[in-house]
Amino acid sequence: MISFDFDYYQPATIEEAIQLFHTLDEQGKNPLYFSGGTEIITLGRLNRIVTDAVIDIKAIPECTAYRKKGTTHIWGATLSLSRIREIGAFPFLSKTIAEIADNTARNKITLGGNICANIFYRETVLPLLLTDSQVVIASRTGLKQRPLRDVFDQILQLEKGEFLVQIITEQSEIDLPFLCIKKRRQWDVGYPLITTAALKKNDRLKVAFSGLCAFPFRNQQMEKSLNDLQLSREERIEQALQQIPATILEDVHGSAEYRMFVLKNTLLDILDAFEGAES
Ligand SMILES: Cc1cc2nc3c(=O)[nH]c(=O)nc-3n(C[C@H](O)[C@H](O)[C@H](O)COP(=O)(O)OP(=O)(O)OC[C@H]3O[C@@H](n4cnc5c(N)ncnc54)[C@H](O)[C@@H]3O)c2cc1C
Repeated sequence: MISFDFDYYQPATIEEAIQLFHTLDEQGKNPLYFSGGTEIITLGRLNRIVTDAVIDIKAIPECTAYRKKGTTHIWGATLSLSRIREIGAFPFLSKTIAEIADNTARNKITLGGNICANIFYRETVLPLLLTDSQVVIASRTGLKQRPLRDVFDQILQLEKGEFLVQIITEQSEIDLPFLCIKKRRQWDVGYPLITTAALKKNDRLKVAFSGLCAFPFRNQQMEKSLNDLQLSREERIEQALQQIPATILEDVHGSAEYRMFVLKNTLLDILDAFEGAES
């Protein structure tokens, strides 16, 4: 049960949602955008999220639709993870989604909600970062389109009252070879020990991680080491591991030492898959 009352709003347009947010904020209601609601409800029950008003953005057409425009795919932020898999136009994203939660939860969890989640895994960000996807953000001054890599630093960097409307990906990026490997401590569903996503473009490997540090990330220095063909595979991986940009997690899923062990083996599997196993 949620121990506090809150008002529920369902605006029909982006402008209405933005206006509503600022009005409610001025009234001291600590408004929250609401997409799938799975996290707001879960954390609300634990009093880790408290709000007097939620703004459900699922009735806004730009947020709910998927469109293909020429060679560009446009994903509304409130598309459920299940719906994106049904559409089937982005195998890398679908593969990442297939490993998140279970079917019932995926029917509710949305792409935008996962990207903006408070829980730090935010795994859908990984394929989007590697495919140079763009995001469309609604603000008081209108819509702005930015490369995700420029506005995602641990979390999606939104100004107060801004919300994510769409994600845009080029077909040429979707067609690139990819891998997404999720290692869990146990069971087939649930949060990862580490998820490693990889993509190869112009003979260069790109990698991104969730569950390794307290936020998902892509790191150019790690990629530089992994792509240094002067070195053996083991040396490339050792060097990449030296470049991890933050403290490695220690939690119920595993120690930092165990995570490093799993990561090393996963990176070796990825190099084998993209470059062929060495005899
Ligand atoms: C059983 C279960 C297992 C899970 N396992 C995983 C897992 O392994 N990996 C993983 O990555 N995730 C996992 N998740 C999902 C994750 O933990 C979040 O709960 C989920 O991604 C939230 O999505 P939602 O659409 O319900 O968001 P909501 O609950 O609606 O919102 C989440 C947060 O994002 C904000 N928000 C929502 N939409 C927008 C927007 N468009 N613009 C700006 N802010 C917005 C909200 O204000 C809120 O703060 C799991 C969830 C469940 C229930």
